[in-house]
Amino acid sequence: MGADPMDSERGGVLADLSTQNAGYLPGIHSYNTYISGMGMKSRERVVRRLREAESRRAVVVDELAQTDALIIGSLSEVQRRCGKPSCHCAERPGHPQAILMSVHDGRRRCQLIRQADLADVRQAVERYRSFQSGLRTLSTLDSKVLALLKELRRLRDEGYE
Ligand SMILES: [Zn+2]
Repeated sequence: MGADPMDSERGGVLADLSTQNAGYLPGIHSYNTYISGMGMKSRERVVRRLREAESRRAVVVDELAQTDALIIGSLSEVQRRCGKPSCHCAERPGHPQAILMSVHDGRRRCQLIRQADLADVRQAVERYRSFQSGLRTLSTLDSKVLALLKELRRLRDEGYE
């Protein structure tokens, strides 16, 4: 039969198509679809971003909805003097002492933390900090969801002619 020009031509076309499919064609395709149904595409894009925000929100709420104890307060450290005249702390910086600062009934409270409790208290305060951080993230996501819903309302508005 010999070399068939059609075969080689078709092979060439197929090769070109597969090359284009790899990068060029999808871009053109989605661009055309976007132009022909611009309103619907914009709405779908907003809905997709809404769904993304909602699933991130669900993760944040899951993290917040734990029951482990936490301590609303902050830890700091002071230098304490033990009182023994022979101790180095009588002259130079004393013994590090962890302090828990908190507010109860509107009044600031400052408590010394026993060394044996320090790790647990530190973890509980850290849980409080990450709770606060989760609340901030939730608030940001809520604002985003609201903004997206308002954008969707605008995009869905067809008016009346
Ligand atoms: Zn001392």
